[in-house]
Amino acid sequence: MLKIHVLTLFPEFFESPFNVSIIKRALDKGLIQIELINIRDFSRDKHKKVDDYPYGGGSGMVMKPEPIFEAVDYVEKTIEGERRRIILMSPQGKAFNQSLARELSTEKNLVFICGHYEGIDERVKTLITDEISIGDYILTGGEIPALAIIDAVTRLVPGVLGSSQSLEEESFSDGLLEYPQYTRPEVYRGLKVPDVLLSGNHKEIELFRRREALIRTREKRPDLFKKLKLTDFDKELLQ
Ligand code: SAM
Repeated sequence: MLKIHVLTLFPEFFESPFNVSIIKRALDKGLIQIELINIRDFSRDKHKKVDDYPYGGGSGMVMKPEPIFEAVDYVEKTIEGERRRIILMSPQGKAFNQSLARELSTEKNLVFICGHYEGIDERVKTLITDEISIGDYILTGGEIPALAIIDAVTRLVPGVLGSSQSLEEESFSDGLLEYPQYTRPEVYRGLKVPDVLLSGNHKEIELFRRREALIRTREKRPDLFKKLKLTDFDKELLQ
């Protein structure tokens, strides 16, 4: 079972997202476990202060190292040497993607450190195994990034989604964007579902989907398309 430990100043942030959909189902089935740890509980300051002014001056406040170090110590004690990744959410980290999600889904423990304010004291980086960003933009805190990663990882944990085939066919799983999907009705506002999908011819449907996935990846994500190893058959489909 994958155990997720979230170190945050705002545990209440996660109440609703952990209570719906796939994450809730994974929790209910006992496939993952999530522990929310309030960093403020580890402040020894009598006012439970967790931030302070930056050395050297400058605007904003910086998260103090002690409460984070002690919160991580607490987690380390509870997991007793089990395999773990200690992940700092940071816009300066390596970019999160589906292959990293897959890698993290095989771990035993994931520990997320959510920063806030201007960021965290640099010394916290001596504790971590990974520094991960969810994109080149600045969010107010690490909670949304941690949630995005927890969601992406949870759906890859075996047993969480009904069908493992739906995972294999999803965008990015094989370096391609997913083919277009349709459901009923057959015609809506004059827009018709492609005939091949109604044909019942599985071979033709498979070819149509492969071709569409290749075309849309080439159009929308030339960066991904460039990395693909196209088979001769793919090249033929594209012509
Ligand atoms: N001053 C910091 C900088 O320029 O790198 C940004 C601090 S940001 C306002 C506060 C916290 O939000 C960060 O410590 C980090 O935990 C989180 N955060 C913000 N944007 C993020 C992103 N794109 N990916 C991951 N974490 C992010």
